[in-house]
Amino acid sequence: MASDPLQTEDFRRCAEFHGHICPGLSIGYLAARAGLERLQSLRSADEELMAEVETDACGVDAVQVLTGCTFGKGNLVFKDRGKQAFTLFSRSTGQGVRASLRSGAFSPDSRQTELFEKMRQNTATAEEEREFWELQRHKSRELLEKPVDEIFSLEWVSRFLPEKAEIEGSEPCSGCGEPTMASKMRQIGDYKYCRDCAGKHD
Ligand SMILES: [Zn+2]
Ligand SMILES: [Zn+2]
Repeated sequence: MASDPLQTEDFRRCAEFHGHICPGLSIGYLAARAGLERLQSLRSADEELMAEVETDACGVDAVQVLTGCTFGKGNLVFKDRGKQAFTLFSRSTGQGVRASLRSGAFSPDSRQTELFEKMRQNTATAEEEREFWELQRHKSRELLEKPVDEIFSLEWVSRFLPEKAEIEGSEPCSGCGEPTMASKMRQIGDYKYCRDCAGKHD
């Protein structure tokens, strides 16, 4: 029997970081791998990368683990589009690979949806929860075994990337007193407020 794709070292690292195995994680894993492979085929393997993700769901965790692009480093950008689409860029050239999930490439079956609904309402038995997670593993594995072109449409994109974020000073907010990056504050009259405090003036 062929080795279990859920047991590769890479995938296990992603599952450990994410906390569970699910189809969304498989999708992010495959998208990140496809992007890395294609970018590396260009030239240097140690190029600085930037990731742009169009979802904030499970798959992003695999992208962070595999590409090293994270929110904290400022090289992971979230574009809120509600799409399972992930673009990996080479920072020096602005060239990137966008992987977007093909329509029909993945959908949960009715049993999964039913079990998920029960779990959401806290009415699932332990047995049903086990069944749900078993189905999740099964679907995750199925995705990993498919040819990547069946799952994603992959395209080269090219973009002018913004400069890396500069380190910026903070000032205390006139409302709450919390140090806040100046560019994120709003001036109201003579005072500068953080967004939460400025919202109270609207
Ligand atoms: Zn998940
Ligand atoms: Zn404030």
